[in-house]
Amino acid sequence: MILEIKNLSKTYGDKQAVNQALKGVSFSLKKGEILGIVGESGSGKTTLLKLVSGLEKPDAGEILLDGKPLSAKRTKDDYRRMQMIFQDAVASFHPRRTIADSIRETTNSLLGRAEKPDLNELSERVGLSKELMERRPGNLSGGQCQRFAIARALSVHPEILLCDEITSALDVSNQAQILRLLSGICRDTGTSALFVSHDLAVVSNLCDRILVMKDGVIVEEGDARQIIHEPKEAYTQKLIESVMEVKDVRERVQKYWTIRTKDFNAIRLNELHDEISDRWSAELNARIPCGKALDVLDAGTGTGYFAVLLGREGHRVTGIDLTASMLEEARKTAELFKVDACFLQMDVQETDFAEESFDVIVTRNVTWTLPDPGKAYNEWYRLLRPGGILLNFDANYADNVRNHNQKESWVKPKDVYGHIGITKELSEENAGITLAMPASRHHRPQWDGILAKEAGFSEWGADEEVGKRVLREHDLSDAPLFLFWARK
Ligand code: ADP
Ligand code: MG
Repeated sequence: MILEIKNLSKTYGDKQAVNQALKGVSFSLKKGEILGIVGESGSGKTTLLKLVSGLEKPDAGEILLDGKPLSAKRTKDDYRRMQMIFQDAVASFHPRRTIADSIRETTNSLLGRAEKPDLNELSERVGLSKELMERRPGNLSGGQCQRFAIARALSVHPEILLCDEITSALDVSNQAQILRLLSGICRDTGTSALFVSHDLAVVSNLCDRILVMKDGVIVEEGDARQIIHEPKEAYTQKLIESVMEVKDVRERVQKYWTIRTKDFNAIRLNELHDEISDRWSAELNARIPCGKALDVLDAGTGTGYFAVLLGREGHRVTGIDLTASMLEEARKTAELFKVDACFLQMDVQETDFAEESFDVIVTRNVTWTLPDPGKAYNEWYRLLRPGGILLNFDANYADNVRNHNQKESWVKPKDVYGHIGITKELSEENAGITLAMPASRHHRPQWDGILAKEAGFSEWGADEEVGKRVLREHDLSDAPLFLFWARK
């Protein structure tokens, strides 16, 4: 254990207004581990990090670093070993100094003047050019400042990074990059981290183990998957639900898949090791011209399942998806199966590719989640070369939801293939998204034919037996899988 926290307490305020921010918190952190700490605003997360870092003193309790209790008066080296990174990265730098000067100041004070920071290496480590270090914080973006804040922390070779909401002020794609950066650093250097966030989706993606805090105490602790899929506490359930309370439907889909990344990836990885993937390959190969490498777009690639199958056949595959955490898993899976595929974060309805970039577009279980499937068909038509083919595998999932609603018994998540082990809340969010989407108001694949015609496709057709052949007993009776294909 690199860090052990024992019964840490902290009260703010005077006799008139006492506010017990932390009430006897205990936990430990392993070397190289990134431990997630979630909880609503005011639950005591920042207070905890401040006590650990030494910015504030506890009223009671003990902090052991590498087995040794830290004394009330911290040494310079104690400060060096644990580095705090804050939400407001811009404000964490001196406004009138360059980033490089700020970093030198940190190493001067904690390592001594003799040791100069390697600014080249530090900027490389956080993926920015060294020239940017000569700027002042006001002339950098929030994401760039946050990367340099990480660089500054690394400049003193810490053992533990204390991260307080470090992605909360960033947009989704910047968030994902910072998370990837942080996990890479911890993996490569063996640095440990306490990663605090109010956003369970973010924490569950990055961390294997999570502490849930409420009113200054830890109410639940466990493996990330267990916390999300089998929360013991009602409070944790509420945190999961609050993740799902997003108005914008696109963001809602993204949140849903972000939180489901781990379990979904497990299902797909299983399939890749199962003969089910041979059956999928056979279906794909039967419809894709063989014998030469084609440019294939896997639209809504998820964790890269089709991308891997088609990459194995020698095609040049690009996988796109809205959800950064899914793409992360896709890259790992492609690496695992030694497939050279490219994965990019994009909306399948509106991509950045030039027209006529692909020979084949494959998509599975995506159209039902789209706010505007007509727009997607137009975009897929634009991206295909003349004669190119679209293979769209999907199902009338809304039928499932409606039938189960009629029966007034919610389908037990574990009974639904693809929902194995997910919570009732997530299952209901899935149903909510399904019913909110235009696809649920149409009968498919007939409707797909109308959309394909409007988009300009020259011929199309459907195969409604594909689920029986590929998924067999796993195919959902109320919403069997179909293939809708269309040729440009
Ligand atoms: P979180 O980071 O989870 O939002 P905090 O640790 O910031 O929670 O706050 C925990 C509790 O302590 C809150 O009730 C907050 O109002 C209180 N608190 C935090 N800092 C101070 C302070 N400097 N003075 C008084 N109360 C504080
Ligand atoms: Mg806080």
